[in-house]
Amino acid sequence: MDRSKLYRRFRTLLIANRGEIACRVIRTARAMGLRTVAVYSEADRDAMHVALADEAVLLGPARARDSYLNVERLIEAARKTGAEAVHPGYGFLSENAEFAQACYDAGLVFVGPTAEMMTAMGSKSGSKALMEKAGVPLVPGYHGDAQDDATLAKAAEKAGFPVLVKASAGGGGRGMRIVRSAAELGPAIVSAKREAKAAFGDDRMLIEKYVDNPRHIEVQIIGDSQGNLLSLFERECTLQRRHQKVIEEAPSPTLNAVQRETVCAAARKAAGAVNYVGAGTIEFVSDGKDVFFIEMNTRLQVEHPVTELITGIDLVEWQLRVAFGEALPLKQDEIKLNGHAVEARVYAENPTKNFMPSVGKISTWRLPAETGGLRIDAGYREGDSVSPYYDAMLAKMIAWAPTRDVAIDRLNRGLEESDVRGIVTNIPFLSALITHPKVRTNAIDTGFIERELTVLTSASPAPGELELCAAVAAIVNEERQAAQGQANSPWQTFGWQPVGRRQRNFSFRVGHGPEQKISLNYGSGPSTLVIGERELAFTIAAKDGGFDLALDGVKSSVAAVIAGHELYLRTRTGRFDLHWVDQFGGETEEQTGEDKIAAPLPGTVVAVLAEEGAKLDKGAPILTLEVMKMEQTLRAPYAGVLKSIKCKVGDIVQEGIELAVVEASGE
Ligand code: ADP
Ligand code: ADP
Ligand code: MG
Repeated sequence: MDRSKLYRRFRTLLIANRGEIACRVIRTARAMGLRTVAVYSEADRDAMHVALADEAVLLGPARARDSYLNVERLIEAARKTGAEAVHPGYGFLSENAEFAQACYDAGLVFVGPTAEMMTAMGSKSGSKALMEKAGVPLVPGYHGDAQDDATLAKAAEKAGFPVLVKASAGGGGRGMRIVRSAAELGPAIVSAKREAKAAFGDDRMLIEKYVDNPRHIEVQIIGDSQGNLLSLFERECTLQRRHQKVIEEAPSPTLNAVQRETVCAAARKAAGAVNYVGAGTIEFVSDGKDVFFIEMNTRLQVEHPVTELITGIDLVEWQLRVAFGEALPLKQDEIKLNGHAVEARVYAENPTKNFMPSVGKISTWRLPAETGGLRIDAGYREGDSVSPYYDAMLAKMIAWAPTRDVAIDRLNRGLEESDVRGIVTNIPFLSALITHPKVRTNAIDTGFIERELTVLTSASPAPGELELCAAVAAIVNEERQAAQGQANSPWQTFGWQPVGRRQRNFSFRVGHGPEQKISLNYGSGPSTLVIGERELAFTIAAKDGGFDLALDGVKSSVAAVIAGHELYLRTRTGRFDLHWVDQFGGETEEQTGEDKIAAPLPGTVVAVLAEEGAKLDKGAPILTLEVMKMEQTLRAPYAGVLKSIKCKVGDIVQEGIELAVVEASGE
C-alpha cells in the first residue's frame, strides 16, 4: 500500500471519542494549529469535549453503538465538516481494523496504524504467534485456532494449573478467568466465552499459564511511516482492580537499567516485526525474574501522560506528526529519562461497593492548580453529568518529581486538595492507596488492591484524627478572636508554643452524633492528645487553609473551614462536618437580642437559603459561602427570626463582613 496516501498533512482533525481523551487530543491539535471537530451523543450535548472543539457533530442516541461506535455516522460527520483526519483516542473504535479501513476508504487519514497492522496485532492470539516468531518471550500457553474443548483442556494441562483463560479479542480485563484445576476449566470457558461474545463479538479463547502475583510492565513505542521505530521507556501498572489499571508510573521502580534495556529492546523487536506505525504499547507480565509478552495495544493508552512527563515528549503531537507522514523528530539515543511520574485514575465509582459506578450531576468540581509538578487531564467540569452509558473515568491526576517518593507525595497532595461532590468518587481510595506503606516500598503485585481492600476503603477516620482536628480548630478560633481580625487568615495567628505547658479539655460532636470529650496537652515538650485511656503523640504545622498533621506517626494534610462552632474538615480519611460544644455551656444558654451573621473567612456567597422574615429554628441554614474551595453553610445561632439578609448570590465578601441579622424569638 502506498504510504503517502495513508499518511499526509491535514488541517482539520475529527476526534472520534469523548471524555478526557477527546479533550486531551483537542488541546494538542489546537496548539499545532489544527481545526478540531468533536462528535457527541445525545447524552453529551453539554459535555466538555464538545465545548472545547471548534465544531461538533451529533452522532445519535446515547448508547455507544448508536453514537461513538457508529462507523457510518462518524465518516459522515467527517465529510460534513470537511475533516481530513480522524483520531480515535482509546477505547471505542480505537483498535477496530474495520474503522481504520473505513477511514482510509473515505479518503481520511487515520491517526494510528494501518488496518493490516491492527489485524495482525489487535488479537492477543495473532500477536502472540507473531511474537513467538520474532523470538520475544511469551507466557507459556496456547494461542492456536482450534477452539474445541479437548484442545483447550489439553493446552491447560500442558501449561499447568493455575491457568488464565483469556478472550483473544479482550480488553479492559473482560473475558478473562483464572482456573485453578481441571474441573473448573469447562465452566470457566463457557462463561468467559459468553462475556467475550457480548463485549467484543468474538469468543475465541487462548490459554496462558497464570503467573502468580505478577507485576504489569509495558513499553511505550512509536513508529513513523519512514521505517523509524523508538521505545520511550516503560511504565509499571501493577496496581489494578479487576485486571484494570488504577495507578500507573514511569519508570518502573522494579527494573534496573539492564532489565530496562532488555524489556525495551524486546518491545522494539515486537513492534518491528510488523514495521509498526503510530503509538502503541507492548504489555508484559513479570514474575520478578523474567518478563513475558501478553499483548499489544495498537493505540494511545490511558496512562500515556506518565511517559510524557519523564521524556518531555507530547505523544499526541508525535502521533499527529507521524500521521502527517513526517519522520520522528528524535533518535533512540536522544530520548532521555528524567525523574519519575505517577498517575491516578479518578473514577465516579464507589470503592466500598465493589467499585460500582456512580452517576449524576457533579455539584462541586475543584481540583488544584496544575503547578508544582501536577498535571490534570479532565473530561468533566462543575455542573456536568456523569451518565451511565460510558466509562466512569472523570480525570487523571499525574504528578512529576525528580524522585518517586516526591512524585507520590505531590500526587497525594493533589488528591487531598481535590473536592468533587454530587457523585461518589474514588479520590479518598486513591489517596489511601498511594500512601500505603507497601506502595511506597514497591512491595506490590497485581493482587494487592484486592487483598488490601478493607484497609484501603475504611471510611472511618484514624483514631484521634477528628478529635485532634476539632481541638485545633477551637484553639485557632479563640486565637483569632483574640487577634480581633488583625490577621487575614486564622492560621496566621496560630501558635503552638505558649510559655510553659497547657492542658485543655474539649467537647464536640460529629454530625448529629453524641458529645465526645478529649483533652490536649501542648506547649513546651511533646504534644499529646488524650481520649479516655489512650494518649497519642502529635505535631501540628499551620499553613494556608489548614494544617499539616502528624498523628501517631502518620503524616497528613488537613483542610479546614471554621464558622462559629461549625467546622468543615477534609482529612486523609474523608470529609467531615463537626460541631464543638463550648465547655462553659455558653451556647446552651437562652439567647436574646440581635446577632449579626458575619463571613468567617473571605469567600463567595453561593446560596441564600432563607428569606427575610422567616422563622428559624436553632441551626437552620441561612446561606452558603464558598470558602477556600469548600462550601460552608452559616446557620442560625438560636431560634429566632431572620431580620435581614445583607448579601446576594455571587457576592464576594471579606472576612468579618455582616451577611445577615437574626433576632432571637426570646421564648
Ligand atoms: P489501557 O489504555 O492502559 O489499556 P484500559 O484497558 O483500562 O487501560 O483502558 C482502555 C479501555 O477502557 C478501553 O478499551 C475501554 O474499554 C475503556 N475506556 C476507558 N475510558 C474510556 C473512554 N473515555 N471511552 C471509551 N472507553 C473507555
Ligand atoms: P486486557 O486486554 O484486558 O488489558 P491483558 O492481557 O493485558 O488484557 O491482561 C490484563 C491484566 O491481567 C494484566 O495487566 C495482568 O494484571 C493480568 N494478567 C494477564 N495475563 C496474565 C498472566 N498470564 N498471568 C497473570 N496475570 C495476568
Ligand atoms: Mg492489557
